[in-house]
Amino acid sequence: MTTACVFCKIVAGEIPSELLYQDEEVIAFRDINPAAPTHLLVVSRKHIPSLLHLTEAEIPLIGHMTRVANQLAREHGIAESGYRLVINCGGHGGQLVPHLHMHLLGGRRLKWSQ
Ligand code: AMP
Ligand code: ZN
Repeated sequence: MTTACVFCKIVAGEIPSELLYQDEEVIAFRDINPAAPTHLLVVSRKHIPSLLHLTEAEIPLIGHMTRVANQLAREHGIAESGYRLVINCGGHGGQLVPHLHMHLLGGRRLKWSQ
């Protein structure tokens, strides 16, 4: 836990959120500033600053986050219409919160944006 980290605070329950999923490795909740009709975040419980900071042993966590995001896509009715999973990394990658998380976006046809 990093005390200043907003996602660590959500994981610790210090900032309230509507948990859509939780297990030993990750939690999921709605993005506060949705970029699509469905915009969920799958967040590691552990404070890992970014993709770049993953150790070899932590690489399988990305597969687990993908599995959870796929399940959430089915539950939220966007699996058949299509969706996007995004992990931003670093400044040029558009990462604002330095705690590993995967975006699940769907509910409309998404444009490619750079
Ligand atoms: P990123 O730019 O990939 O780091 O994405 C961070 C995301 O976290 C943004 O889409 C924010 O809208 C979202 N966010 C920041 N604070 C909160 C919060 N308290 N609850 C839910 N989502 C948040
Ligand atoms: Zn954190």
